[in-house]
Amino acid sequence: MIESRTQREHTEDQTLAPCACRTAQTRGRTHRESRHSRRTDFQRDRDRIVNSKCFRRLEYKTQVFVNGTQDHYRTRLTHTIEMTSVARTLARALRVNEDLTAAISLAHDIGHSPFGHSGERALDERMAGHGGFDHNLQSLRWVERLEEDYPEFDGLNLTWEVRAGLRKHVSRDPGAELDGFPVGPWQFVEAQIADVADDIAYQAHDAQDGLEAGLITLDQLRTLDLWTLAEERVRRQYPDCPADRLASTAIRMLFTLQIEDVLQRAEEQLSALNPQTPWNVMSAPDRAVHFSLPFLDMLKPYRKFLFEEMYFHPDVTAAGDEAVRLMTRLFDHYLLHPEHMGAKARKRLDTFGLHRTVCDYVAGCTDRYALEECAKYRLV
Ligand code: MG
Repeated sequence: MIESRTQREHTEDQTLAPCACRTAQTRGRTHRESRHSRRTDFQRDRDRIVNSKCFRRLEYKTQVFVNGTQDHYRTRLTHTIEMTSVARTLARALRVNEDLTAAISLAHDIGHSPFGHSGERALDERMAGHGGFDHNLQSLRWVERLEEDYPEFDGLNLTWEVRAGLRKHVSRDPGAELDGFPVGPWQFVEAQIADVADDIAYQAHDAQDGLEAGLITLDQLRTLDLWTLAEERVRRQYPDCPADRLASTAIRMLFTLQIEDVLQRAEEQLSALNPQTPWNVMSAPDRAVHFSLPFLDMLKPYRKFLFEEMYFHPDVTAAGDEAVRLMTRLFDHYLLHPEHMGAKARKRLDTFGLHRTVCDYVAGCTDRYALEECAKYRLV
């Protein structure tokens, strides 16, 4: 028998933990819409995100390595898919709303500019005195205002819960609200899961890309407790693991170790708190979903290593510095020649003003398009 939306909502109500967000109890959409006969509101949100242009552009945006430099490096899109898989695993294990978790996860990076954090730095500098630039806030801008594909509203008209979940760093402001409802001090479980899944994914897969790029070595990683633990587990489970498959197997083990730790701590936190509503989790003394303290002690030197040896490796920073130069020139070019931006962006000039419109346009570029535009206007 084909399942209706109301049957799905009933199943959610029966099977999810009391602290989970239920679609039947959503705080709704800014623009009122009729409900779908089959899909819940969170399922619809997830599908709207996957079908959006800003999501498709993630394919050509930098995660760490400039897009197109090697076929196996992660892009923003593959990072997003990997972290969404982690998030869905956590959501299912903790019996919270998997569709909501997936929707927040899939949208979490759509506000990223081209060329990763270097591109973000360049835009933020250019926007000094004009409100700055932050990729988390930009994700919200895309889904609330900038996508223009629906006849009745701007943006994707997502539910309150997905938009609240995207306010990653903003929500910790005391008294922060969205549409009159508090979004902190902590987030609800589904949003906390997306947050930690992002860390879990990049902490594992960036090391793999770094090894493949030759920026870091296995010998260096073996000086770190977290990596040693992962390798020990691999050797115990696969005593005959071929040497050339050890690193990739240890990377997968890194995912597992992190997920196990987060789940165990979350179970302890949630059993002690015994939350009966999402709000009980949001107003709790500590966040529900995070790494345990002993695990964080192992993670700290590992993260420090990734920052110092990989993200600040001269090859990566040189590419980043070049990206900053290009982004700055492109931004200044559009300030002087707004007529060179696309038609949809030009229409936004009256509403948002010159600087914000240029910022939105440059932030929306993929690495590939930004490079093409720089070549076209001889900015390289
Ligand atoms: Mg991310």
